[in-house]
Amino acid sequence: MKTTPTCVTVVLIAGLALATAAQAQSAKDIQSALDAAYTKYRDLQEGTNADYIPALAKVDPDLYGIALVTRDGTVYTAGDAASRVSIQSISKVFTLAKVIEEQGPDVIANTIGVDATGMRFNSIVSIEFSQKALGGPEMNSLVNPGAIATTAMLQGATRDEIWNSLLAFYSDFAGRPLSVDQDVFRSESDTNQRNQAIGYLMYAYGYIREEPLRATDIYTEQCSVAVNARDLAIMAGTLANGGTNPVTKKAVMSAGNVPEVLAVMATAGLYDDSGKWLYRTGLPGKSGVGGGVIAVSPGRFGIAVVSPPLDEAGNSVRAQKAIADISAALGGNPLAAASR
Ligand code: GLU
Repeated sequence: MKTTPTCVTVVLIAGLALATAAQAQSAKDIQSALDAAYTKYRDLQEGTNADYIPALAKVDPDLYGIALVTRDGTVYTAGDAASRVSIQSISKVFTLAKVIEEQGPDVIANTIGVDATGMRFNSIVSIEFSQKALGGPEMNSLVNPGAIATTAMLQGATRDEIWNSLLAFYSDFAGRPLSVDQDVFRSESDTNQRNQAIGYLMYAYGYIREEPLRATDIYTEQCSVAVNARDLAIMAGTLANGGTNPVTKKAVMSAGNVPEVLAVMATAGLYDDSGKWLYRTGLPGKSGVGGGVIAVSPGRFGIAVVSPPLDEAGNSVRAQKAIADISAALGGNPLAAASR
């Protein structure tokens, strides 16, 4: 059959109308999924705030915010997506991304490693088991020993230069200038002797080349950066969008380096429950003891929930449940791509 120009125009307009309808429908679906998860878990009273960093124990346990950012940069929120908590371990993802950007993915695989330790996030025994003579490196950049060593690898001539460049990198992910919660930074600096010991041990074993205390201090400051659910969702959304911030459209990291970052999140992002999380959701994620969790559905969306009470493994209770529900409702599991 021959198509006339009029016929083509009609088909195009009809297609456009359908696509717009589908988009509007999906915007409604996304907001409904967020609202449903917010309502379902708002009154849940499970878990407790982390208290080994005294400032974290004082954060309102009822704070509960959800945000999701689609690849086109639309931001959806439910609950309190504006109040800030400290980013804590979620920062480790973005420091890892920066080192990979600066030195390439092999440098991490060949020095720190990219395997789950199967031990607590601040395990000292895991360092002993990671010795080269025992077949190491068997750590990763998302647990404290590997994270402090990753921070030590950041490029820069002085502490200020390293820090300013790191904070600017985080800010580009969030799409706004981030800053440090000084109360949390002080509180954690006063009580981070275990992390200092970890830094020193990593130095003794050659994973950190110089100034282990400086590396631990920068690491502590990076954990104290204040973020809300919206910031975290945009940071996750930037990873979901191949390294380009979906809201500001700035290319923050190269698309080619994103899969390695997501891979470490998939294997080690939720402490000792990383396997359970991946089994249930298929989403690369990262949690922090401040109560935030981010997750990435590559090519689809970034999502974040902030809710301080944590379970035994150290992951926010409401965040895990809300993200799992929302992702299931939106078909976000990348491992189920061929099953839909
Ligand atoms: N700053 C925290 C620590 O090093 C981060 C822990 C976390 O969020 O897992 O203990």
